[in-house]
Amino acid sequence: MSTKTPITVAHGDGIGPEIMNATLQILEAAGAALEIETIEIGEKVYLRGNSAGIDPSSWDSLLRTKVFLKAPITTPQGGGFKSLNVTTRKTLGQYANVRPCVSYHPFIDTKHPNMDVVIVRENEEDLYAGIEYQMTPEVMSCIKLISRPGSEKIVRYAFEYARLHNRRKVTCFMKDNIMKMTDGLFHKVFDEIGAQYPDIEKEVWIVDIGAAKMADTPTAFDVIVMPNLYGDILSDVAAQIAGSVGLAGSANIGESCAMFEAIHGSAPRRAGQNLANPSGLLLGAVLMLVHINQPEVAAKVHNAWLRTIEDGVHTYDVYTEGVSTVKVGTKEFAAAVIERLGQKPNILKAVTYAHRPAAAPVAARAERPAVAMELKGIDVFVYWPSRNPNTLAEAVGKLAGEGLSLQMIDNRGVKVWPAGRAETFCTDSFRCRYVAQGLTDMAKLLDVARRISDAGIDIAVTETLRNFDGQAGFTLAQGQ
Ligand code: NAD
Repeated sequence: MSTKTPITVAHGDGIGPEIMNATLQILEAAGAALEIETIEIGEKVYLRGNSAGIDPSSWDSLLRTKVFLKAPITTPQGGGFKSLNVTTRKTLGQYANVRPCVSYHPFIDTKHPNMDVVIVRENEEDLYAGIEYQMTPEVMSCIKLISRPGSEKIVRYAFEYARLHNRRKVTCFMKDNIMKMTDGLFHKVFDEIGAQYPDIEKEVWIVDIGAAKMADTPTAFDVIVMPNLYGDILSDVAAQIAGSVGLAGSANIGESCAMFEAIHGSAPRRAGQNLANPSGLLLGAVLMLVHINQPEVAAKVHNAWLRTIEDGVHTYDVYTEGVSTVKVGTKEFAAAVIERLGQKPNILKAVTYAHRPAAAPVAARAERPAVAMELKGIDVFVYWPSRNPNTLAEAVGKLAGEGLSLQMIDNRGVKVWPAGRAETFCTDSFRCRYVAQGLTDMAKLLDVARRISDAGIDIAVTETLRNFDGQAGFTLAQGQ
């Protein structure tokens, strides 16, 4: 008998305890070798005055077991409560969110009978770094951060996932026709890492048309990897069109810790009535069993679940007259799955899972040669309430100082000076770009900002312009 794997379990709120009990019963009956530590998270913890929804002592368990099976929780209404999911994900460095979106036609209603797509979403970066500012009375900004190591980790994860699960293709969604530097880096890293996986087909789509294609013809895709925001949106679209929002599980994977859950919430109105469908959490638990290298148990549970769905044993949320054979509650559904352990589906495709390679893929942080960085100028974002770029140019042009000149002014990325167009709408926030004529130093660049401030003009942000190995580390304004 194999040794048991310690895992941390949280029963959550609302329907959480019922679906967790059902899930754990099935896992036990299937012979999963688990040593369970239970922690309390969610509403009760929030209402005890802990704004993170998790007690410090619970972290000890998570850091010890490194595997977290989590039921949904209720986030209390009102301000001051931090999202437990975001906290857990970021604290434990869970950089990959994995969500298989599968249709179960003809047993679960869907427009896409053969859909089987896995969304791999980057989980830590992009616009979700949460770095936002009010720049001027009229303008807010949110910084989109994409890093090379962050992109390398997620892209490599997607290819390793594809290999382990016998997937034929990995597609990258991004938008580097517009975000040439951030999404451009993601694309470049996809090409570089993809080249190391000759056995797997590669494909790149601009996210807008890619999303349209996925919603229309999901069978054109297999594994799709994408930055955080696109992944957040499109993983919900994918689950919805598969017809499986209530049935989908997801995994949040980090270098050392991983969390597994259903994608739905705590459905408080259904709580305590033996109504809830435990399938989402159960399929989350299947992902966990694969992760902790119990692939045979994972397949046994998954196939018994598929057989149960196929036999028409359905909870109220997926029950359809004429398709379903019996409407059951949470406990009866769990009993039906347990009864079918060892069986396989006849019509739906049975699953098999492979053992993970002995050494889990280590996130690549390739040694890169030192990069030559050269100062080229400074962008100063200022508040100019008259919204007139010509008067602004007059005021700040003369503040450039020796060796620098005001090259252009833009408003929300569109050049408005010199030779702007009267038709261009301007807000109260302008960017003034000063470029160096030759070599320059940081002190000279900061002096420009100081002179602007001394002239009584409010500065929101400054950005340093640099070349990296001779390549511009900044984009041109539209129309520049
Ligand atoms: P929800 O997913 O809880 O419910 C949406 C709808 O789906 C409801 O009609 C509900 O009855 C139904 N439903 C959901 N899961 C079901 C299941 N397993 N079986 C049968 N029916 C099910 O979303 P919501 O109502 O927007 O949110 C309720 C609470 O859940 C909120 O406090 C929210 O913050 C929280 N939430 C938590 C998580 C999480 O912990 N991961 C995720 C989403 C929402």
